[in-house]
Amino acid sequence: MRLDNERLWLSPTDLATRLECPHAITMSLAAELGGGPQGFRGGAYAEMIAAKGDEHERAYLERLVAEGREVVEITMDGDFSAAAERTIAAISRGAEVIYQATFANSGWRGRADFLERIDAETELGNWGYEAVDTKLARSEALPHHVLQLGVYSEEIGRIQGVAPVEMHLELGSGERASIRVREVAAYVRRARSALKRTVEERPPTTAYPCSYCAFCAFSRECERSWLEADHLSQVAEIRRDHVHALEGAGIDTMAKLAGHDPSAHVPGLRDEALATLVRQAALQVDGRTQDRVPFEARGLPEDDVRDRGFARLPEPDHGDVFFDLEGDPFWTPARELIFLLGIVLRDGDDWTYEQIWAHTPEQPGTGDRLGGAWRSRVRRAPPAQPLSRNPQAQGLPDPANRSYTERGRAAAP
Ligand code: SF4
Repeated sequence: MRLDNERLWLSPTDLATRLECPHAITMSLAAELGGGPQGFRGGAYAEMIAAKGDEHERAYLERLVAEGREVVEITMDGDFSAAAERTIAAISRGAEVIYQATFANSGWRGRADFLERIDAETELGNWGYEAVDTKLARSEALPHHVLQLGVYSEEIGRIQGVAPVEMHLELGSGERASIRVREVAAYVRRARSALKRTVEERPPTTAYPCSYCAFCAFSRECERSWLEADHLSQVAEIRRDHVHALEGAGIDTMAKLAGHDPSAHVPGLRDEALATLVRQAALQVDGRTQDRVPFEARGLPEDDVRDRGFARLPEPDHGDVFFDLEGDPFWTPARELIFLLGIVLRDGDDWTYEQIWAHTPEQPGTGDRLGGAWRSRVRRAPPAQPLSRNPQAQGLPDPANRSYTERGRAAAP
């Protein structure tokens, strides 16, 4: 959102933000209308994601140009209304692709990555447009993508007199996800009215950590407020419903939780969960005055150990092979595919590490090299029986015969 000449303009990004965290809208309003702290854009992860997004968008633009498509770019010099007029002019004359199409209408403004011309009967003539956004998502459209594209589609429909049939995402995988505008139009309208109501009525909101915080412009303010309030959300593994239940019982700080008698029942919270949270809060409060991070080993009843974690592993064997597969999560077709297959195996008394890189999906020899390493290992030291949920059925030692602590002691240096 932006206050411009005393008018507050909302954007599709605000719709997406409200979906993630209504408190971020409260903070944005305070920042724009005065009195609230200004947000900041930053943080290494957010910057890296933004840079990858720009790279993906540029790659799609270059692809369109390389295909010989006519691409008209709507430049922006700070004057949104002028850029919106140029967009309408490009739509009216039937430009093949409009890059950074700009809309400004009835208090809403935004910029779509691309509008692509299609054959359609509209008030413009025998052509129309559909919105295309480039997103790093790899397999499907997410709700906030739908909201953003939905706003652009409504604006296209207003200009060409007919609603577009589809809107599209160019995904990070190089595939296109298409969404039928009619199927999501009601959802988009509802989200727009809800945001408008929030802005007009300003309902109170509270800050609570969520996955959006890593990208949020107000994360510093919220983190500071949680610290100052000794907020319960800082207790490791606590859930929001736990916090509600605790606050309902007057336990609204980490220090109060740490000092709570776990045998005093809290409505809405299981007694075991309460006991765990009290222990955890006590450790964290204790840690504030210590140089070391205090910890407490959580024992498991012997029965629970039998079929869990390391207890399920067979005995170590000379034929053991440790295999790890790592992939670049931001791989796009514009950049090379990167996979690293790592194998660690024993060679006499030494361990050796073999690395196999794959830079293209069809890279010759990757599978052969992996299979070759595997076969040679099996020839040199036939492995123990494969891991099974029921080791005894395969004649392997039953891990439950050794307690967790015995195994831990045996492994300790
Ligand atoms: S930092 Fe997190 S809780 Fe605070 S406004 Fe942003 S998203 Fe919401």
